[in-house]
Order: sequence, then structure tokens, then C-alpha cells
Amino acid sequence: MTMEAEGPSLAVAPGRQYEGKRALVFGVANERSIAWGIARALSEAGASCVFTFAGEAFEKRVRPLAESVGADLVLPCDVSNDAQVGAAFDAIRSHWDAVDVLIHSVAFANREDLEGRFLDTPRDGFARALDVSAYSLVLLARHAAPLLAPRAGSVLTLTYYGAEKVVPNYNVMGVAKAALEASVRYLAADLGPDGIRVNAISAGPIKTLAASGVRGFRGMLAVAEERAPLRRNVTQADVANTALFLCSPLAAGITGEVVHVDGGYNIIGM
Ligand code: NAD
Repeated sequence: MTMEAEGPSLAVAPGRQYEGKRALVFGVANERSIAWGIARALSEAGASCVFTFAGEAFEKRVRPLAESVGADLVLPCDVSNDAQVGAAFDAIRSHWDAVDVLIHSVAFANREDLEGRFLDTPRDGFARALDVSAYSLVLLARHAAPLLAPRAGSVLTLTYYGAEKVVPNYNVMGVAKAALEASVRYLAADLGPDGIRVNAISAGPIKTLAASGVRGFRGMLAVAEERAPLRRNVTQADVANTALFLCSPLAAGITGEVVHVDGGYNIIGM
């Protein structure tokens, strides 16, 4: 049974091209999460999703969202905890013998490391940002690969322009995103022979919980809207529609790629 999804409908009706497909979704915190936009679009297109949440505080937000798209498996999974990741994949394997899509939409840095000088980033803040935001992709991909291989599945992660260029206050997260983007390429090379594709979307700024941790985020939205060729900020739906494309057979020849969904902001030099 499909249930009515929450939130406004997507700008582009996706059709039912994900009928019978299965997706693992890491990174829903609330209805603003990019991962939720993607999960909702996948569900509207016919996919079944398994959701995870990071810590009890998020469970009460994630569970009703998951239920609104008919998902019955909602698992705790702090990606910095090997035992919890292992237990989540044990539960996933007893639920499904194969999956089509892995969505990695997870990032974290200490708030105090997202302001001031990058130069002052302490060792533990650096390690934490890189662990949760970049190593977690490697870890989840390793666990998911045996499930993805039988269906020539797809891995998708979320990155930001701060990986490529210096963005004020993005600091250690920019370094973590650079590691994430390089990890996409190395994982694509490792998993390509098994038919598994690995890609990233570099999204323009969107107001979410994670974004609110970056000092001056409202200014980033204003600058993006003013300077992007499309003269607007991107939406959850813009990212979700590209995610559906990248994880579908329409993108069967694309792997190891970082696709910008930013209204063209990144092409502007001056
Ligand atoms: P969000 O806060 O909704 O999502 C971030 C998610 O990371 C949350 O669900 C949180 O629970 C999860 N997370 C944090 N620490 C975790 C841990 N230890 N274990 C498991 N999960 C953990 O915000 P969002 O903007 O939707 O972020 C999703 C992704 O998109 C992030 O990688 C972010 O960097 C990226 N991104 C966001 C923007 C933006 O402007 N919002 C732009 C480009 C890229």
C-alpha cells in the first residue's frame, strides 16, 4: 500500500520508474532534510525505503516521515559507531537480500569549527568532521556492496562547492567534502567492476538543520541567488529529481562523478 507523502508535490512528476526498487536512506533528520526530499521522490516513483536515524532525539521525527511513505524498517545508525552500522546492516540483510540504491546524506562538524579561521581547527574537530562526513561513505558502501551488486545498484552522496573553493566559515567541512569527493572516485573505481555506480550531487545552499550550523548561512543563500545564472536558490526537489536520474538506468554510463545542482553558481568566475 502506498501512503500519501508529506510536503508539497515535486515540480517534476517522476512516474513510477522505481517500482519494485529498494533504497537505503541515511541522513533524514526532519522534513527539511535533503535525504527526505530524495526518499519522498523515490517513494513517489515506486521505491521502498529503509530509513536510519542518528540518536534517539531524531527517532521521533524520522519514524512518522518513514511511515508516511509506507516504510516499516527504521533503524538507529550513528555512522561513527562501527557496532551500530554493523547491526543496522544485519537488520537490513534479514529484511532484503538485495538493494538498488544507497543514499548517503550525512555530515557533521562541531559548530565552533564552522566559524573563524580554518587555521585554528583542533585535531579532534578535524577528525570528527572527516570521520562522520567522509569516512562514513566508505564504511556504508563497504557494507552495502554485497547487497548492491546483484542489482547493479547505485550509491549517491551529497557534497558542496566548499570542497572546491574557499567558502567563508565552511572551513573543515570543505576539507571533509574534498575527501568525500575523492572517495566517490576511488569507490567508483573499486565497485565499477561489480556494476555498482558511485556519484555525488554538489547542491547549492538549502536551508536545513545541518546548514544552520554554518555561520552566515543566510548570506550564502543571498549570494547564490544573486550570482547563480538561474538567479534563484535550488530546492529539495531540484536535488531529488537529479538523484532519481543519477540512480536510474538513464545514468547507467555515469560513475565517479560530481554533478552540480546549484543553478550554475559554480561556473561563474567573477
Ligand atoms: P540535515 O541536517 O537534514 O542532514 C544531515 C544528516 O546527517 C542528519 O540527518 C543527521 O542526523 C546526520 N548525521 C549527523 N551526524 C551523524 C552520525 N554520526 N551518524 C549518522 N547520521 C549523522 O541537513 P542536509 O542539509 O539535508 O544535509 C545532508 C547532506 O547534504 C550533508 O552531507 C550536507 O553536507 C549536504 N549538503 C547540504 C547543503 C545545504 O545547503 N543544506 C548543500 C550541499 C550539501
